[in-house]
Amino acid sequence: MTENLQPMPNDWTRALAVAAHPDDMEFGCAGAVAAWTGSGKQVSYLLVTRGEAGIDGMTPAEAVKVREEEQHASAAVVGVDAVEFLDYADGAVECTPGLRRDIAAAIRRHRPELVVTFNHHDFTYTGKWNSPDHRNTGRAALDAVLDAGNRWIFPDLDAKPWNGVKYVAVAGSIQPTHAVDVTGFLDAAVASVEAHQAYLAGLGIPPGAARGPLEGFAQATGQRFGGRPAIPFELLEF
Ligand SMILES: [Zn+2]
Repeated sequence: MTENLQPMPNDWTRALAVAAHPDDMEFGCAGAVAAWTGSGKQVSYLLVTRGEAGIDGMTPAEAVKVREEEQHASAAVVGVDAVEFLDYADGAVECTPGLRRDIAAAIRRHRPELVVTFNHHDFTYTGKWNSPDHRNTGRAALDAVLDAGNRWIFPDLDAKPWNGVKYVAVAGSIQPTHAVDVTGFLDAAVASVEAHQAYLAGLGIPPGAARGPLEGFAQATGQRFGGRPAIPFELLEF
């Protein structure tokens, strides 16, 4: 794909990011989150799992606490204070009515105009088979945007229906359409990723090694966005 990416719409004030695991937002789009919060927008994170199966050398019982702490730290670096966890089992996320209900409840409480989620397609942008947690979380988030606005779906939820979501931005998509200029926010993006210390150590990624790939990705995206370092998204309008 070589056509140019469009600037992301700016007519929103609150975003809710729905991701499967701690680190999805960081690797996917932390620079864009830093740019948004830096311009006064409010961004909250909803994590479907605590990523307890993500560190090979650590049992899930140990990892669950470490990963939760690292997620709070990495969110704070890019101006995100509100981080919630739904406690689904890492690795076994399915797109069920229960998950849609939990995400719809969060959308009704946070009342975002923008929902951000992570690649829901079968394949990753590098052509690999995608994680089932990513696929199912992304699809449940898209479905939950519709659910949140319909008072006859999940009518037992406390929060009132919210049909104010205008956009869903999918990070890490195989078919990006829009981009966010992250000039001046790459350091924050790198720091946000590096806050996942134990996770990176578990993957054998040494301190400092995340910078190169993150900058390279932003520069490569920039080739379709006027030469500015950027984070790409697939934008769906609702
Ligand atoms: Zn993930």
